[in-house]
Amino acid sequence: MTLRLHNTLTRRLDEFRPLDPGGKRVGIYVCGPTVYDVPHIGHARSAYIFDVLRRYLAFKGFTVTFVRNVTDVDDKIIDKARQEGGTDLKAACRAVTERSLKAYHEALDRLGIQQPDVEPKATERVVPDMTDFISKLLMQGAAYEAGGDVYFAVRKSEGYGRLSNRTLDDLQAGARVEPGEHKQDPLDFALWKAAKPEEPSWKSPWGLGRPGWHIECTVMSTKELGDAFDIHGGGVDLVFPHHENEIAQARGAGKPFATYWVHNGLLTVNGEKMSKSLGNFVTVEEALAACGGEPDVLKVFFLGTHYRSPIDYSATNLQAASGRYRRMVHFFHRVMNTELPTESGEAVTPADILDQQDRFLSAMDDDLNTPKALAALDGLVTAGYASSDSVHRFIASRSMRTLGETLGLFTGLKGWRLSPEQQQLLRKREEARQRRNFAEADKIRTDFAAQGLLIEDTPEGWVVLPKR
Ligand SMILES: [Zn+2]
Repeated sequence: MTLRLHNTLTRRLDEFRPLDPGGKRVGIYVCGPTVYDVPHIGHARSAYIFDVLRRYLAFKGFTVTFVRNVTDVDDKIIDKARQEGGTDLKAACRAVTERSLKAYHEALDRLGIQQPDVEPKATERVVPDMTDFISKLLMQGAAYEAGGDVYFAVRKSEGYGRLSNRTLDDLQAGARVEPGEHKQDPLDFALWKAAKPEEPSWKSPWGLGRPGWHIECTVMSTKELGDAFDIHGGGVDLVFPHHENEIAQARGAGKPFATYWVHNGLLTVNGEKMSKSLGNFVTVEEALAACGGEPDVLKVFFLGTHYRSPIDYSATNLQAASGRYRRMVHFFHRVMNTELPTESGEAVTPADILDQQDRFLSAMDDDLNTPKALAALDGLVTAGYASSDSVHRFIASRSMRTLGETLGLFTGLKGWRLSPEQQQLLRKREEARQRRNFAEADKIRTDFAAQGLLIEDTPEGWVVLPKR
């Protein structure tokens, strides 16, 4: 089956075919964080969505090179460094970016989201990569210098507005020249900004200055993945102007650039846009705490909504995700607890399990339809519980786990085999409960707890889990 992805550039579902003549190697570039604050739940959603895409491509046999940049020079960083004070603004900027990037990495590790293969930092690629690229644009006549700044001439760029589906007239209405800018046309955007006192700056043919945000992604993506590469991703809020400008810059330098443009929808908190001023800013750490420290609950919450749709973070939605995840985990442990998996490689997979596997794979191939893929995992649990055959149950649980792993789920899941003595005790506990001798039942539960094991009662019966 071929994966189909919604391509913002063509505005339709396109069959995914890599540029690699061998059809194996895939390059992905995703716009990374601007590092000036602690990572929030929106960062986690975007990072996770592209991790799922990466994992699923690997599962389908592709060799993926995943590049995600770090924007570590930006007005927001400079503002934050100013607020924090100190005499050396450049050192303060460095302190802000180093601290924030560390927090970002830690948050992704905590969530079990893979780090990129290459993670270029903008500040390390200014000279000569970005300055050379800007020189090339100037030479091609796609850009012009004005007062120590360099601007991209939008009207000279053929096809500008194609990605965001806007005409130059639409854009003209919203464009303006800010004080201090030297644009010839309000539509133009800065490739290079002349240095302001104390701010981080680099030497260039146009004097001291720093690069614009858009140029860094065009330069770093093509440097790492080639002039033409497969997938460029980011949040839907980046389509215009950031990605539109990335394309214009690449084309201005004669580079074909990315084939597939994949954008994730945004996240709201209790129905509202997340912002510090509204006081509803949710950090990754807070979200994890709300999930009882279980990253998979947060992932199931994300997976429950298609990646292109907006998603609403709320206690109710987290609770639903938690219930759903626990049902899967309970099933897994119950199989491990009660049905010793005989080596069942030879066993024939029953039709209802095959059916759920197919549902999962066709859902994922259909533009990563994770809500349907999750429903197939639920279906495997149902099929497993419905079967009285322990081998079938084992196959259902193994399928659930293997397919879940392509979504980055269940990575920390360890099965717990019960000893014959423990099984005997659990049977005694059941009998005690039936006799309504809860004191005896509770004592057995306490004894298990002392061994680091948690007995939980579910609608399908008891399950023993290792305590977290
Ligand atoms: Zn970018």
